[in-house]
Amino acid sequence: MARYTGPVCRLCRREGAKLYLKGDRCYTGKCSVDRRTYVPGQHGQGRRRGKVSEYGLQLREKQKTRRIYGILEGQFRAYFKKAERQKGVTGENLLRLLERRLDNVVFRLGFARSRNEARQMVLHNHFTLNGRKANVPSIQLRVGDVVQIKEKSKDMPLLQEIIAGLGQKASPVWLDLDVNNLSGRVLAFPNREDIDTNVQEHLIVELYSR
Ligand code: SF4
Repeated sequence: MARYTGPVCRLCRREGAKLYLKGDRCYTGKCSVDRRTYVPGQHGQGRRRGKVSEYGLQLREKQKTRRIYGILEGQFRAYFKKAERQKGVTGENLLRLLERRLDNVVFRLGFARSRNEARQMVLHNHFTLNGRKANVPSIQLRVGDVVQIKEKSKDMPLLQEIIAGLGQKASPVWLDLDVNNLSGRVLAFPNREDIDTNVQEHLIVELYSR
């Protein structure tokens, strides 16, 4: 399945929830979910969100999670399989695997304004991982790994704007942001309570267990 390249606010409206896909705009009154509560599409205004089946709820939760982290279906299923093989609660393992992706860590540290932007910046080689080239968004970070903005990239207008605002938002407890060195270290793997993503992961587990 190809990566979705259409208007991302449409995805939030489809899910009926803020997925925070557009960076700063998501926190302003311009957010489409706040302004237009109906589902997207030509006849969206005439359609009501009817009663959703149990399967529908599980499916929507999976789609919502996939869209928040920008993961394709096959890759998402692979994460689930991996989460199932790990010790502990499968749903939490799944979220932890998603959080440990390099593009997510770049976003969580505040080096990008959205996960999509983080993915693009990683692909364009603007970061190092432990001092070495890292341009694969799906790399799983380990405890002690250090992500840093590349020296050459610091002068890019987009990054200069981001750097000027670094540290204004608190980083998650499992990451340590070093504003002076423009780097961040993974202190630990996140626990469920450290992950503020608004999803009910047990519904995804139920979906894939059918
Ligand atoms: Fe979703 Fe952000 Fe668009 Fe609001 S502004 S609909 S949260 S992507």
